[in-house]
Amino acid sequence: MQQLTSYIMGQWLFGQGESRKIYHALTGEALYEVSTEGLPLVDSLAYGRKHGGDALAAMTFQQRGQMLKAVAKYLLERKDYLYEISAQTGATKVDSWVDIEGGIATLFAFSGLANRELPDDTIWPEDEMIPLSKQGQFIARHILTSRRGVALHINAFNFPCWGMLEKLAPTWLAGVPAIIKPATASAQLTQAMVSLIVESGLVPEGAIQLICGGVGEIFEHLDFEDVVTFTGSAATGQKLKSHPRLREKSIPFTMEADSLNCAILGVDVQPEQPEFSLFIKEIVREMTSKSGQKCTAIRRIIVPGSQLEAVKQALLHRLSGITVGDPAVEGVRMGALINQEQRDDVQEKVLFLQQNGCEILCGGTTQGVNIIGGDIHTGAFYPPTLLYCADPYTHRAVHETEAFGPVATLMSYQTTEQAVELAIMGEGSLAGTVVTAEASVAQEVIRHSARAHGRMLILNEAAATESTGHGSPLPLLVHGGPGRAGGGEELGGLRAVKHYMQRTAIQGSPSMLTAVTKQWSRGAEVYADPVHPFRKYFEDLVIGDTLLTARRTVSEADLVNFACLSGDHFYAHMDKIGAAQSLFGERVAHGYFVVSAAAGLFVDAAVGPVIANYGMENLRFIEPVKIGDTIQVRLTCKKKIKKAQKTQEDKPNGVVEWDVQVFNQHGVVVALYSILTLVERREGDFV
Ligand code: NDP
Repeated sequence: MQQLTSYIMGQWLFGQGESRKIYHALTGEALYEVSTEGLPLVDSLAYGRKHGGDALAAMTFQQRGQMLKAVAKYLLERKDYLYEISAQTGATKVDSWVDIEGGIATLFAFSGLANRELPDDTIWPEDEMIPLSKQGQFIARHILTSRRGVALHINAFNFPCWGMLEKLAPTWLAGVPAIIKPATASAQLTQAMVSLIVESGLVPEGAIQLICGGVGEIFEHLDFEDVVTFTGSAATGQKLKSHPRLREKSIPFTMEADSLNCAILGVDVQPEQPEFSLFIKEIVREMTSKSGQKCTAIRRIIVPGSQLEAVKQALLHRLSGITVGDPAVEGVRMGALINQEQRDDVQEKVLFLQQNGCEILCGGTTQGVNIIGGDIHTGAFYPPTLLYCADPYTHRAVHETEAFGPVATLMSYQTTEQAVELAIMGEGSLAGTVVTAEASVAQEVIRHSARAHGRMLILNEAAATESTGHGSPLPLLVHGGPGRAGGGEELGGLRAVKHYMQRTAIQGSPSMLTAVTKQWSRGAEVYADPVHPFRKYFEDLVIGDTLLTARRTVSEADLVNFACLSGDHFYAHMDKIGAAQSLFGERVAHGYFVVSAAAGLFVDAAVGPVIANYGMENLRFIEPVKIGDTIQVRLTCKKKIKKAQKTQEDKPNGVVEWDVQVFNQHGVVVALYSILTLVERREGDFV
């Protein structure tokens, strides 16, 4: 048996004393042992904060994003090694793909987010400025800064790779080091991935540490800037959440626990409709992928009473075709549970459900199950198990008991209102699905049951071919759920990153806030330069560089020409009588003319470092521009985001956001917006 080491303070270590064993899911053979007794676990906190924390916090979001991408590429090139180890966990090839490559894809997704949306800086100005005074010299903004603690991630056994990476990506992007504590049952796969990450040299030392085994006294030494996340059983989660140290130091605890996810078949769906077979397919996939050991798996199948028999027969038919055994053998559709202990737990839960209002329609026992290429006595195999609950309104067990295996319960409703009631009886779920062809059914289900779910899928024929499915958490979407599901929110794009950062409201003068955030706020100092800002390279532009343009008087000919050019003959611009009766009392210039004329005033037409204009944000027309009004524009460099150069052939560039204010002869602002330009850099990344 191999000793599975932990990675603590830059060393691979194994503890003393009694160890726990990790078993092969298919053969039951003891493969590894874990022990952390006597290891410097408590010291690993300070080590992580100091070494990993200092290094990560000094990197900009863009650099952290590039680090995630480099790690993702490194892991992808070595995935075969991970697949080999994953096979020990009873996973099929597809199960392993979701775990290994799905996890790596999360790193890529967060790297892309950083590249597109985050500054090349260590602080993140979160929103636009908030005016607080009449003169405009007292404003506020919210900024996010990295917590200077460690993130302790306590993970579940079912996704040893994805479960780690979906938390690591936002943690590292936030500039925070992590200590990973995988579930012992599948820790060998997490350890293999961590060892690859460490060996790559791509992340600063201390950015990742690994505890294979117990966490010892670590909770007692957590500090106010640390963060704890937990995925696993509600019982353990609640116990850890109520640790006095977390309360004492107000340490955030993100929990993702049991979830009795539901799928509702719409009251409109008949067996001959495509939605009916989509429903059946989705249920069977959710029951059998990862042998049902998925936090998002469908546990409650809610169908109209009129379709109960048809659904039951269709499910029994499809489940009877699921071959269970060693996934290495051709034709095997479902592998094993993680170990015998977990199988005993599932069996116990099925018996409990049976004693609490459920009857077994198929499976429910290991007796007489045909296992291909494996032995039911040594491997942790369990058959697909369909239960039926005749009175789900009375028997709460079916809404409360998570049998973490290929187990789901069928139940019926009469009205959509009742279907919603059943969905909500789960008291908080990670994911829910409604399969319907009717928009009104989707509307009723979602509007009334969204409050009890973290994510909801509306499945119909149109969405089916491209649907990512009920059970797949996606990096850009919220993963987490209220109530029983733990009340946490992992993933969800940049939302996830914010959990590891501190939000602070800063107040002061616009110039002070500009200096702090490195983003220009209206009212702050500007720098007029004889060199036109469009003639400057990315590196040479200074936040606050400004241009006050020449003026232009708007004539009736402008309106007519613009109307003819654009085809926009709207009455407010072109119909004297209609306009007289309008809000403005007379003809006014097209808003788009004002924007176009503004560009005419501020651009420098000659070839130069500005490569392209690629967008406009927050456009507001504040006051009308009338015939005879004179407009003028102030263009100010607001924000700069350096872009990583993808290939040596690409022109190195960065995004420059410009604040644009158009005002009239009275100094009154008529239009406000930002424009985004790509500006060439003098130096590329491949020097
Ligand atoms: P546990 O809650 O027992 O374990 C989850 C994690 O917590 C593991 O890493 C475990 O480590 C760790 N842990 C346990 N006790 C402590 C402690 N005192 N201090 C610190 N860490 C601790 O869940 P399991 O993984 O054993 O799964 C059991 C059940 O949980 C499943 O049958 C299923 O019902 C549910 N579950 C739900 C999930 C969901 O997201 N909905 C996901 C996974 C499981 P170790 O393994 O070393 O004990």
